[in-house]
Amino acid sequence: MQSSSEPDLRAVDPEVDALIRQEDDRQRDSLRLIASENYASKAVLQASASSLTNKYAEGYPGKRYYEGMDFIDPLESLAIARARALFGAEHANVQPYSGSPANLAALLALCQPGDTIMGLSLPAGGHLTHGWKVSATGIYYKAVQYGVRRDDHLIDMDEVRSLARAHKPKLIWVGHSAYPRQLDFPAFAAIAQEVGAYLAADIAHIAGLVAGGAHPSPIPHADVVTTTTHKTLRGPRGGLILSKAAHAAAIDKAVFPGLQGGPHNHTTAAKAVAFKEALDPAFKTYAAQIVTSARALAEALVARGYTLSTGGTDNHLLLVDLSPKNLGGRKVAQVLNTCGIELNANAVPFDPRKPFDPSGLRIGLAALTSRGLTAQHMDTVATLIADGIDAATHADGVDDRRCLAIRGRVREFLQPFPAPGL
Ligand SMILES: *Cc1c(COP(=O)(O)O)cnc(C)c1O
Repeated sequence: MQSSSEPDLRAVDPEVDALIRQEDDRQRDSLRLIASENYASKAVLQASASSLTNKYAEGYPGKRYYEGMDFIDPLESLAIARARALFGAEHANVQPYSGSPANLAALLALCQPGDTIMGLSLPAGGHLTHGWKVSATGIYYKAVQYGVRRDDHLIDMDEVRSLARAHKPKLIWVGHSAYPRQLDFPAFAAIAQEVGAYLAADIAHIAGLVAGGAHPSPIPHADVVTTTTHKTLRGPRGGLILSKAAHAAAIDKAVFPGLQGGPHNHTTAAKAVAFKEALDPAFKTYAAQIVTSARALAEALVARGYTLSTGGTDNHLLLVDLSPKNLGGRKVAQVLNTCGIELNANAVPFDPRKPFDPSGLRIGLAALTSRGLTAQHMDTVATLIADGIDAATHADGVDDRRCLAIRGRVREFLQPFPAPGL
């Protein structure tokens, strides 16, 4: 490895080193409830911070454009084999830089510019890359967006079917960033088949639940499955595409040379480690625990008078609707952050407020569950959140002393639960 005389980060760049340490402390001392975040393990972080970052490897194992692939090829092959085993997929491409490039690659592989695509609209909990107007996917493709029902906030399968029949899309996305219920993959597959569309499932948020058996898998139903590797799957920041064998060549060509140059081998290594961790039986317990804790937190918040979109959850996330309390999510989220409680303001379906200050708070349980918190701790989590919201809505504006007190309680509460990787 390194010669011992080479100065380390702290000596070379104390400024950057200090900022990283401060971020470590912040992640250790705060109640991290952002639904897209997690704690990657020490092993994942080590693989990620390795000499593999120095190597170029354009191409695929056995078909490279550079020399020196002795260890990169077996490494990428290992990551591919583990991804396929974990999800039961016919094909895996581990090179996408992140979730958004993975989605663009799926579109590049299966559609022509100008083709019609369908996806869940952003305000209803969908992702930008499923055809939202400001995204490349909404600019280069003709996007039709479906939503959720006004009364129960559940995906309106009747609307999906009638839009699909009317617009004959080339591809239908199923997946979300802020939808607290299970997805009905067989129902989406039936609609896609009826109108001759490809079905693409984006499991970025729920990949860890799918891998751990806590959410139904789209693999038997979808032509292509895309995901991030850093959310519930608890790996490094990155993307992954799984597909039927029939689409393998098109997917690989779309990722490289279609969209990307050299793969990030250090990230590939970290993905391989994360897949190994997720193949361990303990990961099943982890995935199940996330869902149990999310349900417990949902019940505890409802018991305190809060309204939840869809009334509850059956995945890792909940969406608190503050509109009955006539509160904006932005300020509440900012004050909660001051209290050491990290979550994000999020639109709720049919939100009466503007996107920058929406009515909702999105809460996810993947990170806290990685620290070992379980359902029995959710009553305390709910109390801390409720006290933080009270502080945010205090008549005199933000009450700093109250926030400081909550911050201290959060730190003390988290003490017995070591944060992985830090
Ligand atoms: C997070 C997310 C993505 C994008 O992932 P990035 O890694 O941030 O590009 C794509 N799709 C869904 C559904 C997501 O939640």
